[in-house]
Amino acid sequence: MGGFFLNSKRKYEFSWELLGDIEAGRPNLGNTTRVEIYRLMQFTFRDIIEQNLGSRKTDEIFFAAGKLAGKEFYKHTIRHTEDLNDFVNQLQEALKDLGIGILRIEKTDMEKGELTLTVSEDLDCSGLPETGYEICTYDEGFISSLLESFTGKAFEVKEIDCWSTGDRTCRFSAKAITEMNQEEQI
Ligand SMILES: [Zn+2]
Repeated sequence: MGGFFLNSKRKYEFSWELLGDIEAGRPNLGNTTRVEIYRLMQFTFRDIIEQNLGSRKTDEIFFAAGKLAGKEFYKHTIRHTEDLNDFVNQLQEALKDLGIGILRIEKTDMEKGELTLTVSEDLDCSGLPETGYEICTYDEGFISSLLESFTGKAFEVKEIDCWSTGDRTCRFSAKAITEMNQEEQI
């Protein structure tokens, strides 16, 4: 995205209002659909974006979209707190209630800014065929931005186990990006 578009009004800028008034809009069908349909949309987007822009760019786009989703989700779903347990409890409840996944925190070292967390029955990947690579790029972005919203620090999040690599849960390692390791990244 070069500077070319910066001055023109955007057509698709996200806002929470875009999710719409579902009660009014779907009085008979209501607020749920099936997981296959969510996946159908996600994996067809992935296919077409990859054909147009290549796999690397596709991953970058999915990560960035997950990040935007995490930021907005945090704003609209999580009550302000400075307590890690409170934050994790709220998040666990929201992810479960919304049918996104079952979150567990395996390890935390907040002084070092390191966490390992797992999401079971993940909306994006649980039950997928084994492809040998982690697929939950969107979740990586989503989680990194939830952690950033809570701590005020940027996080690098990498999926290390996934249903699609033969594991039965998705496992993510998260590390706060300090000034020191930020240089490594550049
Ligand atoms: Zn996964």
